[in-house]
Amino acid sequence: MKWINRLVAVVVVLLTLNIFIQPDSVKSIGKRINNAVDLPAMLKTEIDKTATHVKNAGTTQTNSGGTPIESIVQGRKLSNKYYYHFASGVPEQAKKVFLQAVDKYNETGIVKLMPLSGQTKSQSNEITFYVYHKRVETGSGAVELGLGGPKIYPWVGSHNYDLNRGKAGLNAEYPQSSMQLSVTMHEIGHVLGLDHSMKRSSIMFPVDQGRTSFSKEDLATLRKIYQ
Ligand SMILES: [Zn+2]
Repeated sequence: MKWINRLVAVVVVLLTLNIFIQPDSVKSIGKRINNAVDLPAMLKTEIDKTATHVKNAGTTQTNSGGTPIESIVQGRKLSNKYYYHFASGVPEQAKKVFLQAVDKYNETGIVKLMPLSGQTKSQSNEITFYVYHKRVETGSGAVELGLGGPKIYPWVGSHNYDLNRGKAGLNAEYPQSSMQLSVTMHEIGHVLGLDHSMKRSSIMFPVDQGRTSFSKEDLATLRKIYQ
């Protein structure tokens, strides 16, 4: 597995080394998972993150030092309570880092991530944790370590909150690189509404740096979303 060490650990698809020198030139930040989830019957619309993310990458990333908010989460009113569950086939190693990342988020006091149980109401935020296998053979020096994103169901009635049914996944094809706390925190960050930051102190920097603590900007943006 020596060759893996030569690959650059990248959290999301198709980022290349030019991100270190010319952040403005990043063309593709990556795609998001937006698989259909059980759409609550009372909700009419859903918002898909896939298209806007790449399009906005050039303008939203460079204008401030703050950690940006995912565009589809902007202006949404989300409960800070989330119920998580594991998709089938998630190995113990991955479960362990997911749970460590859950602890990190709960330690902030800003959001509360709890295990999904039979009593969970259907109108609550949910996160699915999963693993997938995707081998990258492009020779670009970049490896996809994970995928994550919010999936928002705007509330159309008089209820207080919009719903988020996001997903965070780790690429089990590269377990040594992907099943890391830093990667898991990054992907859950996407689910909760954090977008990529060009600040290296942020857990949302698009290239994995092994960072396992939130920057003050990360925390400020989380507070802004869940105030
Ligand atoms: Zn990312």
